[in-house]
Amino acid sequence: MTARNLLLLPGDGIGPEAMAEVRKIIAYMNAELGAGFTTDEGLVGGSAYDAHGVAISEGDMEKALAADAVLFGAVGGPKWDAVPYEVRPEAGLLRLRKDLKLFANLRPAICYPALANASSLKPELVEGLDILIVRELTGGVYFGEPKEIIDLGNGQKRGIDTQVYDTYEIERIAGVAFELARTRGNRVCSMEKRNVMKSGVLWNQVVTETHKRAYSDVQLEHMLADAGGMQLVRAPKQFDVIVTDNLFGDMLSDVAAMLTGSLGMLPSASLGAPDAKGQRKALYEPVHGSAPDIAGKGIANPIAMIASFAMCLRYSFNMVAEADNLEKAIAEVLDSGIRTGDIMSEGSRQVGTTEMGDAILTVFKRLSA
Ligand code: NAD
Repeated sequence: MTARNLLLLPGDGIGPEAMAEVRKIIAYMNAELGAGFTTDEGLVGGSAYDAHGVAISEGDMEKALAADAVLFGAVGGPKWDAVPYEVRPEAGLLRLRKDLKLFANLRPAICYPALANASSLKPELVEGLDILIVRELTGGVYFGEPKEIIDLGNGQKRGIDTQVYDTYEIERIAGVAFELARTRGNRVCSMEKRNVMKSGVLWNQVVTETHKRAYSDVQLEHMLADAGGMQLVRAPKQFDVIVTDNLFGDMLSDVAAMLTGSLGMLPSASLGAPDAKGQRKALYEPVHGSAPDIAGKGIANPIAMIASFAMCLRYSFNMVAEADNLEKAIAEVLDSGIRTGDIMSEGSRQVGTTEMGDAILTVFKRLSA
């Protein structure tokens, strides 16, 4: 059996607490399901700064490049607020994204029926919600040049950011969205601002051409990104896969995230281009940060981290049945009324990080038997 190499980067704050719950699942899968995971571990963020004076060491970067997938906890915290900009905790994550060339960010927004009441929208609008936002992650206005503030010499300054997209960047992110749609509801909605942006005109054209050339079996719709934002909070269940650029994706995925209740529930994946063997570099991480306000208290919700591992099983190792079972285990535990503090509601039983992880593992074991 081929080895499956995982690099675990727990990071700071609640990162290590949440990662501990994934470690238990990996140990069970190796012992009982013959999963064959080999795990290595490294430091990232503040913990790497404390040990090496950088946000991630060269040795750990090499491990990340060699791994089949990286599981990332969270980075940051007040302890490192004053460290130099280039070695701030987030620089570790940015370096990983850059060196692994992770251009596709996948943010599912799933509303578990048991949590429909925790949404800011009416429960009937979000119950059973299952959408996937595919955001372009390495191009667009966050990286385009020129990017500067210039002094105009008349007491005024000018801030400049540049939105740039080349054909290949749009083609490859559209391809990821269409391929993922085929494994779900077979529908893609592409969002841009072609009415006011040239890059939006090109985005629209290239997505349309990519669709016609290779994915005409998938249903494609185009929407202006501002209208898309409105539709996301008006009738979110109309969407299956949304594909959009870096800037709009940043905002729309946060809007979609909040439809589902809590930050502690939200996983994400970032994928690179396939290599000669069809294997993509990949990093899986919860959407939440290091939550310094609750770190070390044993009360963090590990579900976002566990659901990120489920995405890893699905997208890096094609272990679809195992990913389904892990996601079902999360849903069943929530249905049974077990909650961490962040998603607590009346009549439920409040537990800590370890107990939540154990409850999910128990159901996962039953479903896997
Ligand atoms: P945060 O996501 O860490 O926390 C926001 C709020 O949500 C806090 O009240 C926190 O207790 C709660 N929360 C988050 N995750 C939770 C979980 N799993 N269970 C229960 N409650 C949870 O965001 P923040 O407070 O803005 O940032 C804290 C630190 O994390 C900062 O240093 C920030 O830079 C960093 N950060 C890192 C990442 C990352 O590693 N990818 C992302 C966002 C923020």
